[in-house]
Amino acid sequence: MDCGRFEKMIPAFLNDTLEYQDLKQFLEHLENCSECREELTIQVLILEGMARLEEGSAFDLQKEMERRMEEARRRIRFHRMIGYINITFLGAALLAVLIVFWVFTR
Ligand SMILES: [Zn+2]
Repeated sequence: MDCGRFEKMIPAFLNDTLEYQDLKQFLEHLENCSECREELTIQVLILEGMARLEEGSAFDLQKEMERRMEEARRRIRFHRMIGYINITFLGAALLAVLIVFWVFTR
């Protein structure tokens, strides 16, 4: 992913509407590109900072960034888990079909 594409995906990331594949690439780029990390931090600051300012509550940018990163990672872990379960289920179903096939064709 290049920085231009990353920047375009920032609004979707902030709205939690990125698809799994995009989210994965987004986080990978984020870890390797300090410029984009800065850009995202600024966007979070604008988005969250403004909202908190209106509420009049305190705002911890570092914490907010960590919260968003953790949430994104949790979504990726969840997706992987679902994928793993699917593969396991598919394997079991295939095995059952093979057993039935073997029993009835003997
Ligand atoms: Zn970048």
